[in-house]
Amino acid sequence: MALANEILKQIEAIVGKRNVSIDPAITQVYRCIAPQSSAHYGPYDHWTPQPQAVVMPGSVEEVSLILKLCNKYNIHFKASSTFWSAMGYISSDNSIQLDMKRMGSVEIDVKNKMAIIEPYAIGAVVQAEAMKHGLNCHIAGVGCSSSILAITSGWSGAGPTAISMGSSGENLLAAEWVLPDGEIVRSGSLGAGAGWFCGEGPGPSTRSVLRGWLGTAGSMGVCTKIAIRLHPWPGPKYLPTRGDAPAYKADGLSNFRCYTLCFEDWEGFSECYRLFYENDILYLGHRQFNLFGRDVKTAMIKILTDPEKQFCDIPALMADEKLKAINEEMKIDCQIVIAGMSEGDLEYKEDALNEILKRTRGRKSEFMLDENISDWALLYLLRLGHKNLNYTFCGSYEGNFGLTPNVFVATSVIEEASALKRKWEQEHTGIAATGGDSAMGSISLIGGGGMAGWEFFVNFDAYDKNSIVSTKEHIDQTQQWMFSKGLGIDMGRWNEGLRMPDSYDATQEQLNEMHSKIPQPLIAEYQWKVREAFNPNNLSGTYYRTKTPSDLKD
Ligand SMILES: Cc1cc2nc3c(=O)[nH]c(=O)nc-3n(C[C@H](O)[C@H](O)[C@H](O)COP(=O)(O)OP(=O)(O)OC[C@H]3O[C@@H](n4cnc5c(N)ncnc54)[C@H](O)[C@@H]3O)c2cc1C
Repeated sequence: MALANEILKQIEAIVGKRNVSIDPAITQVYRCIAPQSSAHYGPYDHWTPQPQAVVMPGSVEEVSLILKLCNKYNIHFKASSTFWSAMGYISSDNSIQLDMKRMGSVEIDVKNKMAIIEPYAIGAVVQAEAMKHGLNCHIAGVGCSSSILAITSGWSGAGPTAISMGSSGENLLAAEWVLPDGEIVRSGSLGAGAGWFCGEGPGPSTRSVLRGWLGTAGSMGVCTKIAIRLHPWPGPKYLPTRGDAPAYKADGLSNFRCYTLCFEDWEGFSECYRLFYENDILYLGHRQFNLFGRDVKTAMIKILTDPEKQFCDIPALMADEKLKAINEEMKIDCQIVIAGMSEGDLEYKEDALNEILKRTRGRKSEFMLDENISDWALLYLLRLGHKNLNYTFCGSYEGNFGLTPNVFVATSVIEEASALKRKWEQEHTGIAATGGDSAMGSISLIGGGGMAGWEFFVNFDAYDKNSIVSTKEHIDQTQQWMFSKGLGIDMGRWNEGLRMPDSYDATQEQLNEMHSKIPQPLIAEYQWKVREAFNPNNLSGTYYRTKTPSDLKD
């Protein structure tokens, strides 16, 4: 069904002719191959539907008018800011895609240590602007080329700096939001006319409806501006980089130290995490380079820090006995950065770190202390500018396991999980055979320290049916294993059901069936009522988990 000419004309009148397109050559680009990961509903072999039109609004007023038009004509819509995830793409034929690219302003409020940002302000830009004033922002693990607003207001937000800065949701202050029916809401202090500093009272507290814990993934209208907390940056006002792609490094970071910590056993590793939670010494912490798989980790680091090397060098590098031994040493490892607010502060943090390592049988990897590697790793972790690396092996991945209970529980089963994945990799041709253990994740998912979480990477080819099927079967197996351990839903299935396998929305009947089986179906019933109140025409997909209340069924 094509968008009626009359509706198109009205959209053009709102955003201008230049900012709307129904050209199939354009709308086709706004389809996502559903096996694309990070939505965590397992790989499917379909593309998301083609939108009726792509619309680029330029202001909150324009967004409001567009949503009112959608309600008038019963057209579905979805906003996306930087499109890293499948979640931001539409999920029904009668839909338009909102691309928020035109709204990208960044304003730094130095006195109140906050940034007021629009959807297309990516992490790299917000960070660079903040650093000019001795401030920094939390960049979630998806990396600095993604929208800070999308991850802060729309979805999840864990990342390496969460331990010192809090994860994305914790950094959200006031927000300007267009509800699904087109009404503009300004939350907290902004709604009370008192500025951007607070997302809850004295004005309306809407965070639990608009974002909640994980995010409503574009199903609760369109966020047009937010304020986020900024944090101290004891580094230079700008980062002059040196080196050749992809091995960039930065100067002027003398009061930062970047270490890879290695442990003899998982008990020492876990105890070290616990001590980090209890001591305020980390600027950031992540288990990062394991994402390549622990059998090729050091070869990949060599390749990434030497522009002369390529993937085809992996076998030769891994035949090197010295590198093999280092790889073995880095089997149980994590990366950390400490930052000194003064010389004395750095000294104190270094001493505290050394004491923690002594108590937990840990050590700093000599290999990673090589200046070339250490400088590269420091810039990598501070900016997270290399997230393309998630796609290098096969072009697609799905994260699985997702071991997110406390670190002691997770590490007690991590070797068994790795062995399970290793076996599958070796016995099947559908996924990349890298390491079994590719468990990656932040030291903490919340500010100050708390639960950690590890995603294993299943690297597969989204254009190869065998590879997609093999990945699905592998995740079936790991899901069974997760249940057998009492660890709940596998990460590769966290969002199963938010779209159907054909990448379209589920019907309400299908949602009712699905959500009657969750441990607390009343939550989905409550959310049904919230959706009825805020999104009465149900126009933004099924990412908001709902179940028709039992007492309404008859
Ligand atoms: C390689 C990779 C690594 C990742 N690592 C992490 C990680 O370490 N930690 C983590 O938390 N997540 C991670 N993710 C998942 C990540 O949270 C999402 O993929 C991310 O939010 C999508 O990035 P984006 O900024 O491009 O947002 P988009 O794709 O633009 O949007 C994300 C969601 O927010 C909604 N949204 C976007 N803009 C708006 C708006 N203006 N108003 C209302 N809703 C909006 C969209 O509809 C969509 O549902 C990773 C993803 C990838 C691809």
